Amino acid sequence: MNLIDLHKQFATDEQCLAYLEQMRWPKGVRCVTCGNNQISRVERDVTTKGKNQRTAFYQCLEPTCKQQFTATSGTIFHDSHLPLHKWFLALGLIVDAKKGISAKQLQRHLGIGSYRTAWYLAHRIRKAMEETEGSLMKGVVEVDETYIGRKQKGMPGRQSEGTNVASNKKVVVGLRQRGGELRLVHAPDSKANTLYKIIHDNVSEDAKMIVTDDFTAYKWAMGPTLKPKHRTINHKAKIWVEGEIHTNTVENAFSLFKRGIAGNFHKVSIKHLHRYLSEFEHRFNRRNDGDRFEQTMARMVGVIPMPYAELIGKKRDEAL
Ligand SMILES: [Zn+2]
Repeated sequence: MNLIDLHKQFATDEQCLAYLEQMRWPKGVRCVTCGNNQISRVERDVTTKGKNQRTAFYQCLEPTCKQQFTATSGTIFHDSHLPLHKWFLALGLIVDAKKGISAKQLQRHLGIGSYRTAWYLAHRIRKAMEETEGSLMKGVVEVDETYIGRKQKGMPGRQSEGTNVASNKKVVVGLRQRGGELRLVHAPDSKANTLYKIIHDNVSEDAKMIVTDDFTAYKWAMGPTLKPKHRTINHKAKIWVEGEIHTNTVENAFSLFKRGIAGNFHKVSIKHLHRYLSEFEHRFNRRNDGDRFEQTMARMVGVIPMPYAELIGKKRDEAL
C-alpha cells in the first residue's frame, strides 16, 4: 500500500476504526472482557466539544459484564491522543522506510505538535515489531558482528581478538540464513562466550553450514556441535568470496542498518538500540511482502500498550 492509497483509505477516524474492527473481529464483534458476542452499538453525540470525539462505542449485553469498548480498547492505540489516521500514516512511513525514519521526520510529515509525541509514537510501533519467537535457523547461516558508535582514534572495533571492545562502541551480532531471515542482536561484547550463546540461541544443530570471517572468537563460539559445519572466509588475506563461503548477505544488511543509523537517527540511545534493531529486522525480513502494512498492523492490534513511563525508564539516556 503506498502513502497516497493509505491516505485515501484511512482519511478519517471512522475508516481507521472500521479497519481495526475487521482485523480484530473478522467473525463479528466480541466483548474485550468476557468474549460475549451479544453486543449493542451505542451512538454518541459528539456535537458538544469534549475530549472523546468517537461517534460510537460497543456495550457488552452480558448483565454481569456490561463492558463498554471500541476496536482500540486494550491495543497500542488505547489512550492515545493522536488521531488514528496519523497512527496509520506513521506505520505506512515506517514499514516502507528502508533505512528507517527519525522521530523528527515523522513529526514533520504528520504535523505532530511535539517531538516527544512523535518519538513515543515511533517507539510504540517499534515495540510491536519485536519478534517474540523465532525458530532456529537452518541451511547456510552467515554470522558477523558490527560496531556502532563513535569512532575512537587508533581504536579498532576488535581491539584484539577475543577481548572486549572500546566501551563507547556497541556490538551488534547479525545472523542471516541465506535466502531467509535476518536477526540482529545487541551483544555486550564480542568475546567467544558471548558469541557462543548468541549463535546457539539462534542456529539449529542441523544447519548445513555456518560462515564467518576469520575472527578467532568464532572458532571457539561454535562449540563441538557446530564446529564441523563452520567455514571461514579469510578477510585478512583480502579474500571475500570462495564459492558458497562468504558473509556478503549479512554484511549487506549491516551496511543498510548503519546508513539508517548514521543518516536518520544521529543519536540512538543505547537503551533503545534493541528496538531499532527489531524495527530494522522486522522490515528487512518483510521487504518483499506486499502485505507488510497489514502484518504489522495486526501486531499493533494484538500487543498491549507500553506506558510512557516504562518506555523512558528511570535512567538518563546514554547517547552513542
Ligand atoms: Zn462482556
